[in-house]
Amino acid sequence: MHPVRPYLYYDFTISLCEVCLRRVDAKVVFEDNNVYMLKRCPEHGHRRVRIASDVDYYKRCREYIKPGEVPRKFSTATHWGCPYDCGLCTDHEQHSCLTLIEVTDRCNLKCPTCYASSGPHVGRHRTLDEIQKMLDTLVEHEGDPDVVQISGGEPTVHPEFFAILDEAKKRPIRHLMLNTNGIRIARDPDFAKQLADYMPGFEVYLQFDSFRPHVLEHLRGEDLTMVRQQALDNLEAAGVSTTLVVTLERGWNDDEIGDIIKFGLSRSCVRGVTFQPTQTAGRLDTYSEETGRLTLTDVRTAIIEQSSLFTGDDLVPVPCNPDALCMAYALKYDGDVFPLTRLFSPSDLLEGTRNTIVFEEEDVVRERAFRLFSTGTASDDTPEALDALLCCLPKINAPALRYDNLFRVIIMQFLDPAIFDVRSVKRSCVHIVHPDGRIIPFDTMNIFYRDGLQERTDQLRSEIRPTR
Ligand code: SF4
Repeated sequence: MHPVRPYLYYDFTISLCEVCLRRVDAKVVFEDNNVYMLKRCPEHGHRRVRIASDVDYYKRCREYIKPGEVPRKFSTATHWGCPYDCGLCTDHEQHSCLTLIEVTDRCNLKCPTCYASSGPHVGRHRTLDEIQKMLDTLVEHEGDPDVVQISGGEPTVHPEFFAILDEAKKRPIRHLMLNTNGIRIARDPDFAKQLADYMPGFEVYLQFDSFRPHVLEHLRGEDLTMVRQQALDNLEAAGVSTTLVVTLERGWNDDEIGDIIKFGLSRSCVRGVTFQPTQTAGRLDTYSEETGRLTLTDVRTAIIEQSSLFTGDDLVPVPCNPDALCMAYALKYDGDVFPLTRLFSPSDLLEGTRNTIVFEEEDVVRERAFRLFSTGTASDDTPEALDALLCCLPKINAPALRYDNLFRVIIMQFLDPAIFDVRSVKRSCVHIVHPDGRIIPFDTMNIFYRDGLQERTDQLRSEIRPTR
């Protein structure tokens, strides 16, 4: 009898050495319902990284894929090979679903965890002229961009903040978001009222990591519990759609996942919660990768266990980039909440068919949810109508429902050198406009292309024989 490996070899990919950032071969293997990458760098040796904690879901992601959408324009050629060609290069397999415009390096916080290493005295504000050019670059690449996030640093500290929003609104952007820590919104109720002028088609993406002061001190450097509550009160009073954004770290706030979802459902301005496991990038003063790392599937399991709402049938891979994105949608109606994603078959999600809910079982919840879809008579084409805003779901013919009937839970896992997988990064659809005119995946921007990182990337490139 030959000895047997302790794992099941499943696949093969290219990852990165976490020390030198050179490409390395990686086996993908299953062991004890976990998925690992086994990597070897000729210089820095072997590494075993857990990349998922649910083999069935991981395998399901391989099937939840659809042909990528091609942007109008690519900015770089394939030369050194992925991930050293970002631009987007012609080898990239997905357009920009969500794009960040970083209007400043500065921030009114100096969080111990910050992928952009921002702070009160870091870098500078981009000029309005530079920001206009970045917006124009995006329109040139995308035509009518789906979702644009005004980001930073902390964008609300920019002295021309409202002029920036005005410029964004002049362009054919379908949905505009403000990525903020909420401090200015909390301190100035009139600021939230001014934001409301940009509705509909505008949303605040509000940092909301924890209810506990010591966790906020760990992640953000100070107790922001009152700031978060006050910001939400002001946004609610002004009627501004808001998504809560939670940076997650194992052992600190992963036990609050269910409570944050319940809290979000209780606030009328909240349209959903996005959970983001910490990416090893930028400033990580208090983060330990050994003890703090969470995978997408860890978060998915925690949502199922803690939310008392969503099941495994609701939390499905997002077909444009299933390794990185998982979603569940629910309908809020008349004081009730109906999980929605379970009503769609995989082919509905992959093909984006219209109004094709399969209605087979005599299930009260299904029946009520189905009736909601069927109600209403007049079509409503405003940007806040439900069917205009469901990215990656089938278009729904539900004229009676509006955006504020919707509640969305997203898990967004960004790649870092440890879990980097070239198969996944080519499908990345969350991008950042570089001031030099390139459009760069969020993941690779934070590893290779931010200020201060490009020089090291150029050095890596100089060691590579070009692909053509
Ligand atoms: S991540 Fe995309 S844009 Fe960057 S090198 Fe790879 S394929 Fe090209």
